[in-house]
Amino acid sequence: MPVARFLVVFDADSTLIRNEVIELIADEAGRGAEVAAATEAAMRGEVDFATSLRSRVEQLRGVPVSGFARVLERIEPTPGVRELIAAIHERGGIAAVVSGGFHEILDTVAPSLDVDVWRANRLSVENGVLSGVVDGVIVDAAGKAAALREWAAQYGVPLSRTIAIGDGANDLQMMDAAGLGLAFNAKPAVRAQADLVVGPVDLAEVIALLP
Ligand SMILES: [Mg+2]
Repeated sequence: MPVARFLVVFDADSTLIRNEVIELIADEAGRGAEVAAATEAAMRGEVDFATSLRSRVEQLRGVPVSGFARVLERIEPTPGVRELIAAIHERGGIAAVVSGGFHEILDTVAPSLDVDVWRANRLSVENGVLSGVVDGVIVDAAGKAAALREWAAQYGVPLSRTIAIGDGANDLQMMDAAGLGLAFNAKPAVRAQADLVVGPVDLAEVIALLP
């Protein structure tokens, strides 16, 4: 079994990157504004995440997967993220990402930022266009916490040496499971329950907190 000194688990949207990917995909369908409003409500914790995600993904029906190239071009890594991940690796840690967003985008973004391991939802595709449903079990708040625990076990890291960083209400369970839960540029409900609040937009601030 591989052994790492510590584990850092990032949320993707508005944490690892500055965008909400589902909004960028919805733009491809001309539904960006409606989906952005629904995403905001979900991240503030006002609605059930899985129910909200299903209804938002329905809005993506008909978007051609060829549009993902435009989505990828619009992705902006958060300032400081490359420095932070380099520092994690220098100190013998693992950088992981768990996302309520989508593998279809994260599979390109995560390796480009040197992330070691990642997990997200999958969009169902038929004949080259999105069919408006999520494939498989939805990665929700509980799924994010489960991913953190699984990776900690896999890399032989005690939970006390894990850090979770997120901005949304669906990050609270993994922040609670981690040794240190960091609210990054976060929604008010998330800031209130975090161990520590960092931001507004420079992830390099987290380097000082690494074990
Ligand atoms: Mg987020």
